[in-house]
Amino acid sequence: MDRIKMPNPIVEMDGDEMTRVLWQMIKEELLFPFIDLSTEYFDLGLPSRDASGDSVTVQAAQAVKRLHVGVKCATITPNRARMEEYHLKRMYRSPNGTIREILDGTTFRAPILIDGIRPAVASWKKPITIARHSSADQYSAAEYRVPGPGKATLSFTGEDGEHWEKDVCSFAGSGVIQGMYNRDESIRNFARSCFAYALATKQDLWFSAKDTILKAYDGVFRDIMQETYEENKKAFDEAGLKYFYTLIDDAVARAMRSEGGFVWALKNYDGDVMSDMVSSAFGSLAMMTSVLCTPDGNFEYEAAHGTITRHYYRYLRGEQPSSNPVATIFAWSGALRKRGELDGNAPLSDFAERLEKACLGAINDGVMTGDLAVLMDGDVKGVSSADFIAAVRERI
Ligand code: NAP
Ligand code: MG
Repeated sequence: MDRIKMPNPIVEMDGDEMTRVLWQMIKEELLFPFIDLSTEYFDLGLPSRDASGDSVTVQAAQAVKRLHVGVKCATITPNRARMEEYHLKRMYRSPNGTIREILDGTTFRAPILIDGIRPAVASWKKPITIARHSSADQYSAAEYRVPGPGKATLSFTGEDGEHWEKDVCSFAGSGVIQGMYNRDESIRNFARSCFAYALATKQDLWFSAKDTILKAYDGVFRDIMQETYEENKKAFDEAGLKYFYTLIDDAVARAMRSEGGFVWALKNYDGDVMSDMVSSAFGSLAMMTSVLCTPDGNFEYEAAHGTITRHYYRYLRGEQPSSNPVATIFAWSGALRKRGELDGNAPLSDFAERLEKACLGAINDGVMTGDLAVLMDGDVKGVSSADFIAAVRERI
């Protein structure tokens, strides 16, 4: 057969350990036979990051800005043990953190649903996508353990000399204080990314905060989201989509009674908590995809899980691990579909659809890796990653 042509490349970011092994298998078995694959390749595996002093990560992020679509394999974020294991020159930052900072994007996490695995919340029929504003608030706050009696104040000094000050608490004994912040520009970029993603995936957008209590702080979030909605209202109306603000506690109650099928935008801390709740309620981390979407319309796709280290060491010992490649395959299909959309290349988008259907088809036919097999009713046996990928290829 003729292989599908790609006039424009996507940015390919290779990674580490078991997911690096899966990456190669996916390309050889599921992509090369069908697509004349065109990528700009960056090796973000730890040895290559170390050799380049991590500049390869920066180059990859800049390439995503230029080509608008990227796909990334899971990578190791080094800690002390990894420094020794890989004899690293220094303790590099998380590649995802570096890339997110350069692209100033928002990460959207969505589960892949399959028949036979029921979400823990019975009413959930469609995925819930969590959008977490991954910047500032509690994560870069100033904190102080108050040792004893004294007074805490919060103050601001403007560049123009303006001075503002407010008493926070007069302590009679020990206690604790915290000062946190956020920036309009960062909140606005978050808001724009959320509306762009909701439009791209044709889903309603929810945003929740606690502006009844944090009138100024969460009020700014609510106002900027509302202003961004006004900018997007026409497009939202045309697509038949809704934007909806409600208090965080009300949103939690409503989400539990909903069918799913919406994007839920959350502040940094709320998103951290809710994304773990939603992903575990939908079944498995191995079935969670993740997209970094920027306000100006660049997209980077990946699996939400890590490099599956424990399976990799089994693989090095010559075993055939049963690591689930579905989220990584969906990262590829997401990137190929987006490339197809941007280039008006219908055969490429159609292939992405076919690839996803082939994955779900294999699982529906009872061919799946061990992590899913244990969640199924009845006696289902898990197959190796290689056998699962072969079953997907057959169905393509
Ligand atoms: P992990 O790689 O997600 O794996 C944790 C455990 O979850 C695995 O041992 C496995 O459980 C299960 N699991 C995860 N993905 C699976 C899959 N696709 N198929 C089957 N089982 C799967 O997390 P980790 O062990 O905490 O982290 C390993 C490395 O990944 C670390 O170096 C970390 O820095 C990195 N990491 C990278 C990213 C990223 O690049 N986005 C994200 C998170 C972590 P069993 O062993 O019980 O089978
Ligand atoms: Mg968390």
